[in-house]
Amino acid sequence: MNNENKTIHDFDFSLICEFFSSMDRQGPGSPDVTLKALSFIDNLTQESRIADIGCGTGGQTMTLAKHVQGKITALDLFPDFINIFNQKVKQLGLEHRVNGIVGSMDNLPFRTGELDLIWSEGAIYNIGFERGLNEWRKYLKTGGYIAVSESSWFSDERPKEINDFWVNAYPEIDTIPNQVAKIYKAGYLPVATFILPEACWTQHYFAPKAMAEGIFLEKYSGNKTAEELVASQRDEAELYRKYKEFYGYTFFIAKKVRL
Ligand code: SAH
Repeated sequence: MNNENKTIHDFDFSLICEFFSSMDRQGPGSPDVTLKALSFIDNLTQESRIADIGCGTGGQTMTLAKHVQGKITALDLFPDFINIFNQKVKQLGLEHRVNGIVGSMDNLPFRTGELDLIWSEGAIYNIGFERGLNEWRKYLKTGGYIAVSESSWFSDERPKEINDFWVNAYPEIDTIPNQVAKIYKAGYLPVATFILPEACWTQHYFAPKAMAEGIFLEKYSGNKTAEELVASQRDEAELYRKYKEFYGYTFFIAKKVRL
């Protein structure tokens, strides 16, 4: 990549980060759903070590932190998100047991068998569902839990338009039974699986995003990157409205078992 491209790329990248930084969540979900997933996990104490991988600005981490006692290390690739994350931690007075760090999910800074719980909402797709399940397992104690949300197909067949969108965006999207089988194959006992309610997309994700889009477009009026970014976000929301019976997000909770 030459310097000129790098500059353009960096500019695009920081614009994209700025847009998503302005939201409490960077993917579908809700406090209720985070707590529902947490309700299947029974081994947590003050001594527990928890990781939230791909935490974004930490919407779900703060919910978790208010309801569990242990120490949480939350990790994201983007420093802007982690800055906002750590500001929230301070505001809530949680610095003694919640910490946001910059890092990558394919090179985690944890020790083998260190963690009681791995949390990851709407982020494992960045490494791939099966690869994430397999690579992250070693950081968990036997009997430790993993809770991840991931996009799923709700049927074997679907219209071409939505199939093409996902094959391009994330070809590893799969049906729920196949995903549960992958969890089992990776050395976990599937404990619970539930589909995120529509409100996690509409009310908790697309609605705040639509607000952020308006503000962003006003600020960067005439900027091609900003306009394209908003257009792609609006297309995604429209696809969901049109095809939501065919796909959505699923929460998977599983326990590491001895192999
Ligand atoms: N868990 C948050 C954010 C989900 S969006 C929520 O539910 O709101 C996916 C997140 O994964 C983004 O914050 C993105 O910055 C992060 N991400 C992407 N690639 C990553 C990587 N390789 N390592 C760590 N985080 C990554």
